[in-house]
Amino acid sequence: MTLTDATDRSATPADDEARVLALCDQLLAELPPSGTDPVTFLGRQFDLGLAWVHFPEGYGGLGLSPKLQKVINERLLGAGAPSPSRNNPIGHGMGAPTIVTHGSEEQKRRYLRPLFTNEEIWCQLFSEPGAGSDVASLSTRAVRDGDEWVVNGQKVWTTLAHVSRFGMLVARTDPDAPKHKGLTYFVVDMHAPGVEVRPLYQITGEAEFNEVYFTDVRIPDAERLGEVGEGWRVSLTTLMNERVAIGGQIPPRGSGFIGELMRVHARTGPHSVARRDRVMQLWIRAEVLRLTNIRAAQQRAQGTPGPEGSIGKLAMAELHKEISECAVELLGAEGTLFPDGYTMERPRSTGMWKNPQQAFLRARANSIEGGTTEIMKNILGERVLGLPGDVRVDKDKPWSEVPRS
Ligand SMILES: Cc1cc2nc3c(=O)[nH]c(=O)nc-3n(C[C@H](O)[C@H](O)[C@H](O)COP(=O)(O)OP(=O)(O)OC[C@H]3O[C@@H](n4cnc5c(N)ncnc54)[C@H](O)[C@@H]3O)c2cc1C
Repeated sequence: MTLTDATDRSATPADDEARVLALCDQLLAELPPSGTDPVTFLGRQFDLGLAWVHFPEGYGGLGLSPKLQKVINERLLGAGAPSPSRNNPIGHGMGAPTIVTHGSEEQKRRYLRPLFTNEEIWCQLFSEPGAGSDVASLSTRAVRDGDEWVVNGQKVWTTLAHVSRFGMLVARTDPDAPKHKGLTYFVVDMHAPGVEVRPLYQITGEAEFNEVYFTDVRIPDAERLGEVGEGWRVSLTTLMNERVAIGGQIPPRGSGFIGELMRVHARTGPHSVARRDRVMQLWIRAEVLRLTNIRAAQQRAQGTPGPEGSIGKLAMAELHKEISECAVELLGAEGTLFPDGYTMERPRSTGMWKNPQQAFLRARANSIEGGTTEIMKNILGERVLGLPGDVRVDKDKPWSEVPRS
């Protein structure tokens, strides 16, 4: 599906930019952020087509170039508007593009607006104890029963499942088809009978993610996303957007992880020339990644990113580890302490860090979540550089005949 299809194409890019900026000003005048609750503000932002500007009109967009989203975000966030994605990163970064690309009219109307306003949080139910990197080998079963599907199985590492209203679920509907062909994608109500969410605590002491058990959970067929057996194709939209959502961020220069390192550098020391050199090298690499992500975003003429989206994810994961390691080293003995206390908690958002020590521990997950560094290298090698593929002995075999532990 072409996302950008509903607009007067005689307009020039400058006209489009002027149009969205005028709409931003209209929104800010109608609902000044300081005196407006976030749900009302974000709802109006959606209705004006400023949520995902490249989505079609009526679905939170205007059918314009995705490049304009940066212009909109800068204007609105700069004026103190609420962040739409902070509390719903999975819904915003992965759920919305999947729904708008593969959802029925009813699903788009039902889900996109409350997802954007954060009234309904979303989670991603892909990974299982026996299926992570090779997620297409998953075992959770969905069996058709009239107009419904009955789901049984277990998912794991499900970020924010404990606060989610809906989940993006991939389940096996045809065990006799090869692994990629027997999958179907569903929207699952996380409050439905038979859905059980249990916390999994991470090294930081937080349980951002969970185990999710499905016992005879009933999903109406109308909540299927895409055709029966097409679950892998729909999943690819989610996965490609996930890599960009995690690794394609374009923060202001010198902010985020690298900004924290600069603050630690400024308040510790004196530093040796070698240390200063190391900090400078990291700053340069953070800036190169930022510029690479800006270029990638500008080249993305349509909404859905391609395999090259893995570059940002790969680079970000390694860089975050090195930056946070350096910060903890600069802190010396203080780097071994957890200043805000080490309390077990279940946060309402993900990937947030409170101090360099916590950032150091959280960064360990960056090279695993959203596809491991090794898998990013496989994708780039095979699908971008055209190198020979990994050995895949089970690709064409019926899933039911593939041995598994
Ligand atoms: C913080 C965090 C949040 C997460 N959130 C979610 C979520 O919300 N929803 C969800 O569905 N999942 C989530 N995940 C799960 C994540 O997607 C998986 O952990 C990841 O895909 C790896 O799968 P695995 O853990 O089973 O490791 P495995 O696939 O078992 O991999 C083990 C090791 O083998 C390597 N490896 C595997 N296959 C290959 C290969 N073909 N070539 C080279 N090396 C290979 C891997 O790189 C890794 O080092 C999250 C994970 C983390 C850490």
